[in-house]
Amino acid sequence: MGDKESLLRQLPAVDQLAKHPSLEEWARQDHRLLVEAIRRVLAGWRQKILAGGDFLPTLEVLVEEIKAKFKELHRSSLRPVINATGTVLHTNLGRAILSAEAVEAIVKAASRYTNLEFNLRTGKRGYRYDHVRGLLQEITGAEDALVVNNNAAAVLLCLSALASGREVIVSRGQLIEIGGSFRIPEVMAQSGAKLVEVGTTNKTYLRDYEKAISPDTALLFKAHTSNYRILGFTQEVATAELVELGRRYGLPVMEDLGSGFLVNLEEYGITDEPTVQAEIQQGVDILTFSGDKLLGGPQAGIILGRRELIAEIARHPLTRAVRIDKLTLAGLEATLRAYRNPRQAIREIPTLAALTADLSSLKRRAEELHGLLSSVLGERAQVEVRSITSQAGGGSLPLLELPSFGLALRCPDISASLLAERLRQTDPPVIARIQEDTLILDVRTILPGEAEELARALLAALT
Ligand SMILES: *Cc1c(COP(=O)(O)O)cnc(C)c1O
Repeated sequence: MGDKESLLRQLPAVDQLAKHPSLEEWARQDHRLLVEAIRRVLAGWRQKILAGGDFLPTLEVLVEEIKAKFKELHRSSLRPVINATGTVLHTNLGRAILSAEAVEAIVKAASRYTNLEFNLRTGKRGYRYDHVRGLLQEITGAEDALVVNNNAAAVLLCLSALASGREVIVSRGQLIEIGGSFRIPEVMAQSGAKLVEVGTTNKTYLRDYEKAISPDTALLFKAHTSNYRILGFTQEVATAELVELGRRYGLPVMEDLGSGFLVNLEEYGITDEPTVQAEIQQGVDILTFSGDKLLGGPQAGIILGRRELIAEIARHPLTRAVRIDKLTLAGLEATLRAYRNPRQAIREIPTLAALTADLSSLKRRAEELHGLLSSVLGERAQVEVRSITSQAGGGSLPLLELPSFGLALRCPDISASLLAERLRQTDPPVIARIQEDTLILDVRTILPGEAEELARALLAALT
């Protein structure tokens, strides 16, 4: 005990450290932040000593830790990173990045007053949802639309509004979990709806649904298994058949589509994801999907469907709790506008552009980056162009392997994992992939303006 106290007493005082000559520059830049950094570093050491640590840091060590803490406090926590993983919708790296048009719309909506809930014609109150309703009807063919904070909220809201206290029939093969905490059975329970599971994990037939229909049934529910596929000896009921069954019994069919694919990308080899339009055309009564997956817009939950059902959902008190904010709405409207012309959407929306990038242009980009890195890094690393595969990510198109090109980096005295770790500490951080102890940089997700930054980051990591 006595030892601890004497160690604690020997830690330098805050004032004393703040005057240290090596920290002069930092003190001049922001004295208060420096004091905060010193406090935090000292608190860390106090904790270590109290937990049984039996030595003190040297003054040099303290000063270095204070400088690092100062830098950490000085910069934003949420920062841009270079995504060199090749995963287009990387959930941990923020999923979709927005088109220039969407960014511009967000900046405008953020910096000026808007007619968010103001009807310019009547001068009376307007509705925020009206700003995208018409576009969604036009692009998807749906009768009506409502947008909320994200797709998880959309599913919860729809079930709460349409099925609370009643039964919802779902195939056992579709009881999905999306990243951590979103699980269909749990969302169902939260909404107050009673889950009625039918069929088996690999096979569910129309008759399984039909047998389960009771006077308490509120909905027939279909979840798109967006982040996995059941392959082999399998059977699921097609949307059109489920809709036909629903019609016969006067029951609405709700589908959680997950990703919101609004263009057909068959000619680019992307075939195993249904489009929103196709599902609507088959008569799904309520359809929900994300704004920031394959749609390539901001985080949002889009609900499409029959007018009277959408009206019922809009009246539910949860709608207010999960409402979409004006910046998202601005970004979503601008993103949706691009879909009026599918060619334009593929060009302008970064997610679609990255998914459809052709192999020869990826190869050219890899070769250009190779030239740049070879000249900047010289002897420090061995760089070569490699043919690789990238993924859609974000729980979309789980089986799709997109042929791509990347750079393989090998250094004589640094392991791939150490290099990857160092690249995460550069500014901006670079997130790479490791394959067979080689660091891989996939050009598919490296943005046009990022090559120079990437070269500088690599040089810093290798020096
Ligand atoms: C991604 C996904 C969700 C959750 O959507 P968020 O927009 O992330 O809230 C729900 N259901 C399915 C099928 C999904 O793929």
